[in-house]
Parts: sequence; structure tokens; C-alpha cells
Amino acid sequence: MIFITHAQDNVGIVTEVSGLQPAFSVSPDLQARELVPFGQKISLQDMHKGQPVIRYGQVIGYLTEDLEAGRWLQQTHIDLPEAPTLDSIAWKKTDLPELDPLAGYTFEGYRNRDGSVGTKNVLAITTSVQCVAGVTEYVVDRIKKDLLPGYTNVDDVVGLTHQYGCGVAINAPAAIVPIRTVKNLALNPNFGGEVMVLGLGCEKLRPERLVPQKQGGNGESDILYLQDESLDGFDGMVTEILAMAERHLEKLNSRKRETCPASDLVVGMQCGGSDVFSGITGNPVAGFASDLIVRAGGTVMFSEVTEVRDAAHLLIPRCRSEKVANRLKEELRWYDDYLIGGQADRSANPSPGNKRGGLSNVVEKALGSVVKSGSSPIVDVIAPGERVQKKGLNFVATPASDFVCGTLQVAAGMNMHVFITGRGTPYGLSMVPVIKVSSNTPLKERWHDLVDLDAGRVITGEHTIESLGWELFELILDVASGHKKVACDKLGIHNDLALFNPGPLT
Ligand code: CA
Repeated sequence: MIFITHAQDNVGIVTEVSGLQPAFSVSPDLQARELVPFGQKISLQDMHKGQPVIRYGQVIGYLTEDLEAGRWLQQTHIDLPEAPTLDSIAWKKTDLPELDPLAGYTFEGYRNRDGSVGTKNVLAITTSVQCVAGVTEYVVDRIKKDLLPGYTNVDDVVGLTHQYGCGVAINAPAAIVPIRTVKNLALNPNFGGEVMVLGLGCEKLRPERLVPQKQGGNGESDILYLQDESLDGFDGMVTEILAMAERHLEKLNSRKRETCPASDLVVGMQCGGSDVFSGITGNPVAGFASDLIVRAGGTVMFSEVTEVRDAAHLLIPRCRSEKVANRLKEELRWYDDYLIGGQADRSANPSPGNKRGGLSNVVEKALGSVVKSGSSPIVDVIAPGERVQKKGLNFVATPASDFVCGTLQVAAGMNMHVFITGRGTPYGLSMVPVIKVSSNTPLKERWHDLVDLDAGRVITGEHTIESLGWELFELILDVASGHKKVACDKLGIHNDLALFNPGPLT
């Protein structure tokens, strides 16, 4: 009926779906003094104003008033503590635990020329500017209807449309973030190295910047400008684009799945619509699966700067080298400054829904959020829009916003996505399979057709973090092989890409 995360905690989490009624005896020493709803905190002892509130064995804030044992500890009862300064967190050379290797796990994937492995076979149409988005969407529909039935080995066609490209300060230092994101999106392993770009002709972001230098070799351009004077009207554009698409579809259609080691997995971990259970069910289950992937030699990325900032003291010591620790500090510091520049602070996170889900503040959210990174050393830190280079656990510095983070993880090269939610979000991406994990069973019961795996079963005691971590790992391999479809793909529910543009518009 209540869950205590850590032996030192002075608050518990109500796991009774109907909440704890007043006078209900939790134990011989603890009685609820008022209704404490599902997912909310109950004080385990008499506490006084100024006393630290402890969850996950860590201080999540200080009491603003005296509170007796058995009371509902609400958000207004806690002051947000200062975030530790990054300079005050030292990296020390320690013997980081090396996890035992895990051999023998494979999946059926599409091996690419550059060695990366796709889990889907998708034609992506890159765009250099929003002006071409309408035409792109039209063409994508036409390809699906007229061409795709002839290329049965190709799963889908997507337009990589976005709001960038013109009316932007293209030479501002921060412009590199959206530019490299658009370029690297097209290199995602699921697109098989077949890059084609639709441009307008007069935009600031030149389409040439988006095509890899070595592509093709057949002499035909993979860029089409809608302003090309040889094109006769809309029909002329469409005919030309369909011909270009067909050349790429032919190559994609010849891709075959082959047995690949689990070390070819590149899994992006993200949470959205978190609740108080995310940190004790969904995220630890994802963290256990992260460790399994790393042990199998694979790549895991976790992200969401504002949701790790308050747990920096737990992450910096986990960096494999001082250089990696300094890179992590550099990205976190950049984001601190970015928030200051926008006159925002970290109290902008959590969301109202997070709070209704029992999360008091960003410190508590961060402590629960970083658990999805598992326990392995952080081998590299990647700037937003860049691709991961190293196998093992990577921190990819992105905003926490679901679609922006997802877009940057697609650009970083993920071939599988795990998304943990407590409040519920129907999030999905068409480019990369998204496995949705619920942190509580009532959500899975309500959203039975939208959630792929229920980590809330940890609470009921039927399962453990380990057993569900293995279940998630096996599910990742099955989905990566194309043996199982995730809920959002079955339903065809997919979100738009959303670029992170920290630079100015003109
Ligand atoms: Ca998120």
C-alpha cells in the first residue's frame, strides 16, 4: 500500500489505487491522518520546518512547515533546494564497476554499407526548408499509394520536414545545432544510406550541406530544387520527385535482414509524462535493460539535460575519464546559460501533469529520471545534433521535450527507442520503433492498446525490476528483428519531428 524507495527516506509513495483513507493503519506505527491519493507522498515520521525531505536516499527539498507522520506531503510543503554548482562536483579516478559481458543475443537487422544496422527499411525524404513541406507531404502520400506496393521490402516513406531553413541567422554559432541535426537525421541507420533532398532554391540552408559527399556514384543528383526552371508546374515537380524516389526505392528494396549481434543495437532511452512511479518501476526496468545492452556490447543513449541537471553529482563520478566528465559539465553548463538567456529556470520542469502524478519538483524528477541510464560507465557525451561514436552508455545532450529529444536521438543514430511514461502519452515516431513502457498498471489497463510493456507490475510484486528488465531486453530484440510491431506502429500514430534551434531567427 506504500512503497519506500530507500531505507533513509522519510516519505513513502502510496501504491493503493484508491488512495489511503483517513485513519487507515499502514503499520502499527503509522496511520494516515488524511486522504493521501494514489502516487502521492505520505510522511513516515513527525517532521519539522526546515528538515530535509529524503527520497531515493537524497535530499529533494526542505519542509516549509511542520508535518506530522501520516500526512499528505504536497508540493507546497517543499522548498526547491539550490542545484549544486558544476564546479563543486569533482571527478575522481575510481575503479568503475565493469559489468560482465553478455554473449549470444542477436536480432535480424539490415546491415548498411557504413556498418550500422537498421531495424526498419524506410525511404526518407530530407528537406532543406519549410517552404517545401507541403509538396513533400503530397509526394509522400503519392509514393505510398502508387510506388510502395511495388517495393514490398520497403516498410515506409517519411518526409523529414521541419520549420528551419530560411529566415534564420545561418551563421550564428548556435545554427550549427539544427543544421547538423537535419543532416544527421538522413543518416539514421533505418534509411539505409539513401539520402534524397528536396530544396526550394533560394533558402539559406543550402541542400548541398545535407548530402553526404560519398553518396551515389551513378551521376544522378540526389537534390531537387522546386525552383528549377526546367520543371513545368506542380505536375512537373511531382513527376521528377517520384522518379528520384524510385531510384532510391530500388536500392532499399534489395536490403535483406541478416542475423546481427545485439552489439549493433543503438537504443535511445527517454521518458515523458512522468509520475512518481517512473523512478521506481519504468526507469529502473529501462536501466536494467540498458545494462544488458551495454553488457552485450551495444550502445545506449540517455538525454534530457533539465532532467539530469539535479542529479549531476551522481553522473559525473560515473564518467569513464576526466575528459568525459568535463564534456558532461560543458553541456550542462551550456544549458544552464541557455535557460538563463531565456529568463527561465529549472522550476519550469516538472509539468503540471508530473505534479499531479506525485512529483514534487525537478530534483525528485531528476533522481528518478537518471535511473534509466543503468549502472554502466558513461563513455561519451554528445552535443545536440551530433551522432554517437562509441559503443556503451552515451549521454546525448538534448532538451527534455519529448519530440525534440526524440528527433535528436534519431539524428544521433538510434535504431530502437524506449519511452517510459506514467501519466500517459501516445508518443510515437515513424522512423524508429518506439517501445512504450508504463510506470503504473492503471495506465496500462486504460491504455491497453497504446502501451507495449507494463513496468507497474513491479509494484504489485508479481515481477521484479530484473525480470521486467529482461522482458524489455527481449522485446527490444523482437521489435528490432521485425518480429513484433510496437503499439504506435500498429495504430499508425506518429509525432512530427521537432528541431532544436537555439539560434536566432531573422
Ligand atoms: Ca522527455
